[in-house]
Amino acid sequence: MSQQRFPPSLRPIAASRLAGMSAFQIAATAAVGLGVFVYYKANGPPVTGRPVFSKFGFHKLKLQSAELINHNTKRLRFELPDPTQPSGLTLCSALLTFGFPSGGWKPRPYTPVNDLDERGFIDLIVKHYPNGPQSTYIHSLKPGDRLLFAPIPKPTFPYKPNTHTHLTLIAGGAGITPMYQLARGILKNPDDKTRISLVWGVNEDQDIFLKDEFAALQKQHPDQFKATYVVATPEKGSKHLKGFVTKEVLEKVEGVTPGETKVLLCGPPPMEASLKGKKGVLEQLGFGAKDVSSF
Ligand SMILES: Cc1cc2nc3c(=O)[nH]c(=O)nc-3n(C[C@H](O)[C@H](O)[C@H](O)COP(=O)(O)OP(=O)(O)OC[C@H]3O[C@@H](n4cnc5c(N)ncnc54)[C@H](O)[C@@H]3O)c2cc1C
Repeated sequence: MSQQRFPPSLRPIAASRLAGMSAFQIAATAAVGLGVFVYYKANGPPVTGRPVFSKFGFHKLKLQSAELINHNTKRLRFELPDPTQPSGLTLCSALLTFGFPSGGWKPRPYTPVNDLDERGFIDLIVKHYPNGPQSTYIHSLKPGDRLLFAPIPKPTFPYKPNTHTHLTLIAGGAGITPMYQLARGILKNPDDKTRISLVWGVNEDQDIFLKDEFAALQKQHPDQFKATYVVATPEKGSKHLKGFVTKEVLEKVEGVTPGETKVLLCGPPPMEASLKGKKGVLEQLGFGAKDVSSF
């Protein structure tokens, strides 16, 4: 290695340092230096520890993996820019995604479902709608592809532990994702004593996913969490409740009592209308408008 590459003032120091090193040490130092140079060239300086989505900004995240978790739904893991970075998301938050499928760009919100304290990645669960441009685009992504994300400035239901003694979470189809994020966040916090009744309406048994995750939460927190599945067209032998989420269904679910629970909804518009519309199921059960919120 030539001394000419060092500034004149450092040449004596460089020479004495190099003189004291073995050929192996010099080669190893050069290799590490080259590795750092190549890494910086490819990735820029590491931004260790800074939460990615705590303030507004666009981030193009690389898809690490995608797996089909039922007949039309994928779980996708996107890498944060640095593996030590937290997402900076709080309970009940979603992210806007921007795809560029044919016909323009299609911003759509999705709810990260991994433990929000995990660093270096976010997981989305995305249901594919055959005529839906953004869900079709996201399902077409391959590991290594990138998707553009931005935070949604305020969660629709900013969650504070122990504000309610009981929550009734009613989800339809892919509307389960914010409910899962919220339920697992509450149950992970030993200081949060909120009890949760989850009611999930789906079309068919095969639409259900996250079943093991919900079973585990129920096993770990039997006094705090209970999930009820309601299947519109159940298969023969299905052990779930049959039909839509009706007054009769909610009467069977423990804790769904006006004045004692806050109801959160996330489902397709017709389901939400039947539940919280004028003379809807929740009004018939005695719930007022302030007892019910939608994601
Ligand atoms: C706060 C928030 C969080 C969300 N989180 C998730 C999530 O984690 N995972 C997820 O898969 N989706 C989630 N969604 C829904 C998502 O943003 C998109 O609306 C959905 O993926 C469809 O987008 P698309 O562009 O493919 O179809 P669109 O062009 O929006 O819709 C195409 C067609 O698909 C059908 N369709 C679309 N959405 C629904 C629906 N909800 N129910 C019934 N039919 C529907 C309709 O027939 C519609 O005409 C969330 C929505 C909100 C508001």
